[in-house]
Amino acid sequence: MDEKPVTQTDVAIAGGGLVGALTGLMLAQQRPDWRIVVCEPRAEGPPTDKRIIALAAASAQRLQTLGVLEGIESTPIKHIHISDRGFAGATELHAQQEQVDALGRVVAASELVNNLYLSCQQQTNLTWLSGVRLESLQQQQEQVELTLNNGQQLQTKLLIGADGQNSLVREQLRLESDVYNYGQFGCIATLDLEQPLNGWAFERFTEAGPIALLPMQGNQASLVWSFTEAQRDAAEQWSDAEFLRRCQQAFGYRAGLFSGVSRRVFYPLILRRAKRSVHHRSVIIGNASHALHPIAGQGFNLGLRDTEELCQSLAATDDPGSFKALQRYEQSREQDYQAIIKLTDGLVRGFSNHYWPTVLGRNSALMLLQHCGPLKSAFARLTMGMRP
Ligand SMILES: Cc1cc2nc3c(=O)[nH]c(=O)nc-3n(C[C@H](O)[C@H](O)[C@H](O)COP(=O)(O)OP(=O)(O)OC[C@H]3O[C@@H](n4cnc5c(N)ncnc54)[C@H](O)[C@@H]3O)c2cc1C
Repeated sequence: MDEKPVTQTDVAIAGGGLVGALTGLMLAQQRPDWRIVVCEPRAEGPPTDKRIIALAAASAQRLQTLGVLEGIESTPIKHIHISDRGFAGATELHAQQEQVDALGRVVAASELVNNLYLSCQQQTNLTWLSGVRLESLQQQQEQVELTLNNGQQLQTKLLIGADGQNSLVREQLRLESDVYNYGQFGCIATLDLEQPLNGWAFERFTEAGPIALLPMQGNQASLVWSFTEAQRDAAEQWSDAEFLRRCQQAFGYRAGLFSGVSRRVFYPLILRRAKRSVHHRSVIIGNASHALHPIAGQGFNLGLRDTEELCQSLAATDDPGSFKALQRYEQSREQDYQAIIKLTDGLVRGFSNHYWPTVLGRNSALMLLQHCGPLKSAFARLTMGMRP
């Protein structure tokens, strides 16, 4: 049997999802002198991921500059309404008040991944291996040796693990994580509405779990509804009509009448944060390093900032696996992680609880946010991915 030759590269990225593909593209553009390999188990062609994601304003701007939003349907978020159903607390954010065109943009994750993949194909110093999975890794002094599932061996000066929530890279490097299981499942679906949302996004905390609605083109909206495990089991059996009736009942009529619903997909919801994200000639980024509850739509936005900071840390180094550069990267991410995890986790836990002092506290917080301009602006800037 023919032995496949050992190939050498400067940077190998495990995972060509949103964060891996973006990192491949940005690194390849920044360092034309480096060879980059991305290995992705997904077969060639557009992914089938049904996720519709909200890009924070700063992320959308960055992706626009890279040219990867071209040809993609993207709906601007002009207003965000956050409320606690059945109580008085509510707050609204408006793009105009924050002096921006949009607070964010809504896109289909599959279209964005596909555009990133196509842009990676244009980079002569980047090789994309489709249908290929990293199977194991071995760290050596000057390189990391990778074994791929096609039998190929790859030696790289730096390994970037962008292989998602169940990261093999994280596991093989024995990077421990703090994990909190919310005991919830996110149900995603597209709703047909009787009237368009006109740029309004909603985060509504209800007795039946948090519900987020994102505006899409025409009379459609993307729904993320969080259920407990028992509720999920029941919800999977609901007919379209039953689902719509219950969703309308839980959400209310603030967005008008819901008239249709697509197939539903359920995702388990956890909070995970790796205690360390760097190791000898290796780093984990994106969901491999942190997975968040999707209620505030921050997961990919945080991953995008991982990519930006990693590229910045590697901009001037001769050795892609320089531990100094990796440490600089790790330190630079700490503050952002803390702020976003606090925001997302605080929203989920604070609003999943019906203990009256908590209800009182969160409604006061929403009212304070609504009536205190500078606080509201700081909150808006955080959700837009901008520095306060
Ligand atoms: C319901 C829901 C709604 C969301 N909404 C938003 C939102 O509105 N805004 C937002 O910013 N974020 C949102 N997110 C989060 C966002 O989807 C994730 O943060 C983002 O997809 C993470 O990208 P990633 O590339 O790190 O991981 P992934 O998208 O999981 O990609 C990992 C890639 O690694 C590959 N892989 C796996 N194992 C291996 C291996 N052994 N070798 C090589 N490759 C491997 C996989 O095939 C995959 O392509 C949402 C998440 C969910 C679940």
